[in-house]
Amino acid sequence: SLSIQEQVPTVVTVKQPKVDVAEQYAATKRKPHINFVVVGHVDAGKSTLMGRLMYDMGAIDERTINKYKRDSDKMGKGSFAFAWVMDQSEEERERGVTMDIATSYFESPKVSFTILDAPGHKDFVPNMIAGASEADFAVLVVDSSPNAFEAGFLHSGQTKEHALLVRSLGVQRIIVAVNKLDNMAWAEYRFTEIKDQLQVFLNSIGFTGSQTSFIPCSGLYGDNIVNKSAEEELLSWYKGPTLLEELENLRLVQRDIKAPLRMSITDVFRGTNSSLVNIAARINSGNVQTGETTIVVPSMESTLVKTIMISNNLRDWAVAGDNVELILANIDMMHLRAGDVMCSLSAPIKRARIFTARVIIFQLRIPLIKGSNAIVYRGRTTEAFKITKLISVLDKSTGKILKSKPRHLASGQSAIIELEVIGKGCFPLETFKENKDLGRVVLRQDGNTVAAGVVEDVISVVTDL
Ligand code: GDP
Repeated sequence: SLSIQEQVPTVVTVKQPKVDVAEQYAATKRKPHINFVVVGHVDAGKSTLMGRLMYDMGAIDERTINKYKRDSDKMGKGSFAFAWVMDQSEEERERGVTMDIATSYFESPKVSFTILDAPGHKDFVPNMIAGASEADFAVLVVDSSPNAFEAGFLHSGQTKEHALLVRSLGVQRIIVAVNKLDNMAWAEYRFTEIKDQLQVFLNSIGFTGSQTSFIPCSGLYGDNIVNKSAEEELLSWYKGPTLLEELENLRLVQRDIKAPLRMSITDVFRGTNSSLVNIAARINSGNVQTGETTIVVPSMESTLVKTIMISNNLRDWAVAGDNVELILANIDMMHLRAGDVMCSLSAPIKRARIFTARVIIFQLRIPLIKGSNAIVYRGRTTEAFKITKLISVLDKSTGKILKSKPRHLASGQSAIIELEVIGKGCFPLETFKENKDLGRVVLRQDGNTVAAGVVEDVISVVTDL
């Protein structure tokens, strides 16, 4: 059998790319696009804060927000109006809890953003993971009201768990929105007290000082979200950026647009012309152009990219970071599934059968043992694996080995484990070093998330077509 590099898919005519996309991209100065996830304890004010951000950015019109205000007044939940912008389903409104991962788009003059609004409710952690595993960075919202920060930070609060999760999923930066400071009369001591405690914790899980920042704000009143606060008390001690300014500062996320194409397919649907297939996808690395022949992993079927669209505009090419819609020719719909990865024809992603991962172990009722099964998730890709080795337990902040070949893994531990696919399947995979998006995985057992982390090594791959 051939090695992965030697596989040559059967295509009649292979169209070669025509333009140097990297060169064109450099010349166009297109706005960078950034995905971020919003996490934090339930009721910290995530939805309100994001609704406010969208509203102040002009991404929601006045009439819509007025309707939300009227509707929420009727239900006697006046202050929820902004949150409603984000929590769109009826059921969520009734319950007042954000349930699914909601995505919203807005842009500033410098950067365009997609918010992945992650629910804070305990039952909904898996949705949060789906968001965090696609995020360039995280906004951690904490409630600064008396005792509320403490409730979210200590005991069974979700602040720590969420921060740990985004870290173990490879999110490199975190902005802490010290929210509801209006409830504290904008007192500096409260901001400092929260900042100091969180900084120590964030350092302990591996976020350095330069990977964290803290913004005193009020989502409800719109202070320091998009507009600088006019509160004199706050202005007397805080001269730093607003949340938006800080978000824009982080646009220096490095994406390799010259690397081999990696594009995660999120949706597959039949086009208007029945011989064509439409897909929605996100480009993780590299670039793609119309007229290019690419390959789909794991089916290893090649296909011709006929049309590229970004936000309903036709484009000749697209690059890493773009969310795109493509029209494909020369491929049957059965060879494409959500979760598949479309790649450069000459350098497809590995189809992993065995890999090692550095993971954080979640709250478990029973410790994780060698030989148990787990479903591995990355975005929409899933596959059943067996945990074949517990290699080591690591110090969470330094990464040093504390113990080799542990007999089991307990809640909160950081560890390296080996997994092998069950049956004939495979998983399109790269190491976290190779690809920050595609090298992150989540492990679940019986519907519970048991671990999440980054891929260290791909040990064995499928070698035949
Ligand atoms: P989530 O569960 O984190 O999404 O929190 P919500 O956005 O639903 O907000 C929870 C509650 O806190 C609601 O009653 C909000 O009106 C209130 N709230 C949110 N942000 C602020 C704020 O900045 N200041 C004050 N005083 N209340 C807020």
